[in-house]
Amino acid sequence: MIIKNTQVAMDTMFVNEIERYGAKNFKACFDCGTCTAVCNLSEPGHSFPRYFVRLARTGARDEILKSRELWLCYACGDCSENCPRNADPAELIAALRRYTIASYEPTGLTKLIFKNNPVYILLTLVLAVILAMLLLSFRPESDVSRWLFQYVDYQIIHYGGILLALLLILSVIYGFVRSVKNYASGGKAKFWDTLKETTKEVGIFKRYLKCDTYDDSYWNGKPWYIKPWFLHLTIFWGFVLLFVATGLDYLFKDPNIEVWWPTRILGTIGGLSLIYGSSLIMGYRVTKPTKIYLRTKMADWIFLIFIWLTGFTGLWLEIAIFAHNHTMLTHFIFLVHIICAAEMFLLFSFSKFAHTLYRPIALFNYYKTKL
Ligand code: SF4
Ligand code: SF4
Repeated sequence: MIIKNTQVAMDTMFVNEIERYGAKNFKACFDCGTCTAVCNLSEPGHSFPRYFVRLARTGARDEILKSRELWLCYACGDCSENCPRNADPAELIAALRRYTIASYEPTGLTKLIFKNNPVYILLTLVLAVILAMLLLSFRPESDVSRWLFQYVDYQIIHYGGILLALLLILSVIYGFVRSVKNYASGGKAKFWDTLKETTKEVGIFKRYLKCDTYDDSYWNGKPWYIKPWFLHLTIFWGFVLLFVATGLDYLFKDPNIEVWWPTRILGTIGGLSLIYGSSLIMGYRVTKPTKIYLRTKMADWIFLIFIWLTGFTGLWLEIAIFAHNHTMLTHFIFLVHIICAAEMFLLFSFSKFAHTLYRPIALFNYYKTKL
């Protein structure tokens, strides 16, 4: 973990590459170690985030791709807040994660998404149109479908959708296998103990509670329900609840559309959680209360907007069902809801969402060596 020779020459090609993933100023680091001193998650023998500044500067690609510690960081920004050189080590860690996600994805699409904003926006819009057409193809008898399929062959949409789904599945499998191989630690901890600790970390972000606790922290004294830890939790559990509600609806072919029905209640709580968490985080990204919010990558904005839209349109549909409102507008909102949810799912292994796959694997292997 510790680099013995700190005089290794800078790998300018790699530095430029990581800059394109969003870390703009890490070259300014003069190795003072303040960031590691203030990071409450850094442990003896795991001196991050300074360790990652060294790896990035020296182009240590393999170490970065195999680093389980990269996924320990909660992007609280304490290190960046206290860095005397504005080297923004927290943003470097975020950029290295984007680099890792892109490297685990075999088609090269993620590299494009993270490095090229116009491409990402275009891809998102094109995918939305394809999804809308795909959804309409399920109801070929509707007026809109009849109009649309005069111009576009139904088969193209049909087989295009299947191809896209296949690409997604293969990409997820490839990323999964690579990360399992790369993060394998050979640790000796018992399986169940490791699983318990990993679940706690993934489920309640236990170690995140150690962040933002230093004396001058902006978050000191602020109510818990507006702190980043809680907001990330609301987004995570919002997704889980919506996923469960959708699954139950599908499994039981639930004909009950009353709002008090359990799956509806789960869905409503999930939607409200998503709206709450993503609204406040977007607010922080606009008002920039701390350094961590100074720069937001386009990929992160799109991700947040999709989360918010998924929650908002879902809630709209709940209200429309309650009010027995079945107008064209409600159908349109339903279409937007499905498109947002499907886009997040389809872009899963190609975007920031992929960290939900790699992080638990890395954490599990980390705890295997720690417990
Ligand atoms: S605090 Fe800043 S300058 Fe000091 S080691 Fe960390 S990144 Fe480098
Ligand atoms: S962002 Fe927070 S958790 Fe991550 S390295 Fe910096 S201080 Fe540590």
